[in-house]
Amino acid sequence: MVDEKMTFIKLNVQQSIWSKLSQLKSNHRIANAYLFSGSRGSGKEAIALKFATYVNCTAVDGPCGECASCRRFRFLQHEHLKLIVPMPREVKSSGNADVAALLDAIKIKAKNPFYKITLPKANTIPISHIRKLQRDLYLKSIQTGRKIVLIYDAHMLCTGDASSANAILKILEEPPNNTTFILVTDYKADLLPTILSRCQCLDFPALKRDDVVAYLLSSGVEDYLAQFAANIADGDMRRALALTDFGKNDILELVKTLTNLVSEEHVENWRSFNQNYSRMAKNNFYEFEFHLFLLQWWLKQAYLQRVGINNSDVINGMSTDLREFNANFPNANFDKINNIIEETIIAPRKNLYMPLILTNFLIGIQQSLDK
Ligand SMILES: [Zn+2]
Repeated sequence: MVDEKMTFIKLNVQQSIWSKLSQLKSNHRIANAYLFSGSRGSGKEAIALKFATYVNCTAVDGPCGECASCRRFRFLQHEHLKLIVPMPREVKSSGNADVAALLDAIKIKAKNPFYKITLPKANTIPISHIRKLQRDLYLKSIQTGRKIVLIYDAHMLCTGDASSANAILKILEEPPNNTTFILVTDYKADLLPTILSRCQCLDFPALKRDDVVAYLLSSGVEDYLAQFAANIADGDMRRALALTDFGKNDILELVKTLTNLVSEEHVENWRSFNQNYSRMAKNNFYEFEFHLFLLQWWLKQAYLQRVGINNSDVINGMSTDLREFNANFPNANFDKINNIIEETIIAPRKNLYMPLILTNFLIGIQQSLDK
């Protein structure tokens, strides 16, 4: 059963962007191509789906959720919707398993608009998918409505020799009738400038804290946990949801494990960290990023405590650990540590050799703690 309140159709975030998009529909000025970029976890994919649904709905103010078109969009199964996501590099034997995994992921996305479709090792948008899209778009014309091509993680068009990006560019140069492309990415700078110039760009700000809390509460998260997650997530709903999935105790435990790991030179722990996190960076980039984000966030709280900024709402349950950390490392160079974490977070996207990166990460933080 799909809970109406939580699907993208009734999602009520990014109000000012939504009102711009609604006006495009009412003024019949829908362009051939949009790029939704900006803050992570700010609802870009969900708003793109909501817009796709609205464009094909007969209701005037927002998608109705009831008409035949909306009902098919609700399950992401409308013939006008083409959804393109990163896939693993094509290996013949795993093809069917990948398709099955994708169909399962699409079902979850229909229920949870902030769910990120990430198949293991999906690190490219294959050219074969773009060629198939091309055939579909030019061959089949439609009588009513508008075809919408959603390309999630569109920066992945540009991996390898960027042949997928060039193929998309060709389509955008001769746009098929009654078709709108919406490219969605957290990494606008990775896209070809020639693609950017063909798109109308909408930059999404981080979500408002109240919108994060309201969404979490409507998803059945308890109030204390919704507040805790919203305090840390900084307007990023995917992070907020990951935080609520862990729960407060497990988050505090994970953070403690990570801070102990970086602050104590322990050969065995470092070796297994290196192995596990190299693997995680490769197989589940978002999980990797989330763990490092938590460490970064915790160290920021330590810094704020050291300089005397009272942040008691946020650090509720951690002040003893933070004080202890500051007593042990009075000379820690937080700026430098923060830079090291930032560089490590983006390393997997640059295809760097992770065992080496993680070794440098541990050594770099050790030095910056300046015991
Ligand atoms: Zn409708």
